[in-house]
Amino acid sequence: MGVFKRLKNACFFVFLEVRYKKTKLQNFLLFQKDRSMYNVLLYYNFSPVEDPEHFIIRHKAQCRDLGLKGRIYVSEEGLNGTVAGTFEATEAYKELVRGLKGFEDTEFKEDECDTVPFARLIVKIRPEIVSIRSPFPLDPKEGGRHLSPAKWRQVLESDDDFVIIDLRNNYESKVGHFEGAILPDVENFYDFPQWLDDVDIPKEKKVLMYCTGGIRCEKFSVLMKKKGWNDVNQLHGGILNYGKQEGGKYFRGKCFVFDDRLVVPVNPNDEEPISTCEITGKPADTYINCANMECNKLFVCSEEGAIQMEGCCSEECKAHPFKRPFDLENSFAPFRRWYEYFGKEFKEKA
Ligand SMILES: [Zn+2]
Repeated sequence: MGVFKRLKNACFFVFLEVRYKKTKLQNFLLFQKDRSMYNVLLYYNFSPVEDPEHFIIRHKAQCRDLGLKGRIYVSEEGLNGTVAGTFEATEAYKELVRGLKGFEDTEFKEDECDTVPFARLIVKIRPEIVSIRSPFPLDPKEGGRHLSPAKWRQVLESDDDFVIIDLRNNYESKVGHFEGAILPDVENFYDFPQWLDDVDIPKEKKVLMYCTGGIRCEKFSVLMKKKGWNDVNQLHGGILNYGKQEGGKYFRGKCFVFDDRLVVPVNPNDEEPISTCEITGKPADTYINCANMECNKLFVCSEEGAIQMEGCCSEECKAHPFKRPFDLENSFAPFRRWYEYFGKEFKEKA
């Protein structure tokens, strides 16, 4: 074999080798790109927590050790939390919760994400893990019939005479809800008992109710039964579980969540926004907090609207001295504390 031919062959193999390595590298990068880095958990369990004061100190330290962020409400009636971290951390956390006496059967809703959608870790005591402020006790054991996502869909497709109540706040149902649901115009969950007294739902009607992850139904279904409705049904695991198990059929728009993502998709076959940008009037389903620190209003805003108003809800807010510096990347997430945007002089001014 001539020198030239050997050289040519060698070059060919080097070329093959490089190409092979490049493909492997590309696949690796693609794999990394496809795979979300983090996991978000959402859960609740109405099971007694003895000595919540003591519990939160230990629990917070354990969460911190796992590198988790999020918020956990602790009360004598149970736990309600949403935390995020690496898959290893969330797996360890699930084990930790299920290792607590009375929490062995805790169900977790899970979602992958590319960044941790919380700024901090908050573990705190609340009088209730979901606040309905009822004047009489509501025991979730006396609640409605839990419908699995499949059963819920069957009822929606049946000829039954029913009403569907969206148990979330007005700004949540605005960007997404089940077709035909009643969307109460309330700003807080604890406004629902009053709403129920004012609304006219016949006692013999079949009632279907849903919320994000199921916890609000656990209390409201008890209230409705105590007030005389007999056929009370609640979506087990809420919209998030329904989206995962039934592909979100009959759900229109997106689901509001209380973390940095603000909205998450539910129905991959229907991702059309059902709401409009408050600035441009065009279809949009993304939320923004007004950039004026003294306003912070949560409103539906498109990217175009955000750029136009520099993240503000009005011209007044746009001209306000406490307006946060505009940054499109970080605008579509809940606002942080003032020191994330301003120096010490802000506190003196404010
Ligand atoms: Zn504003």
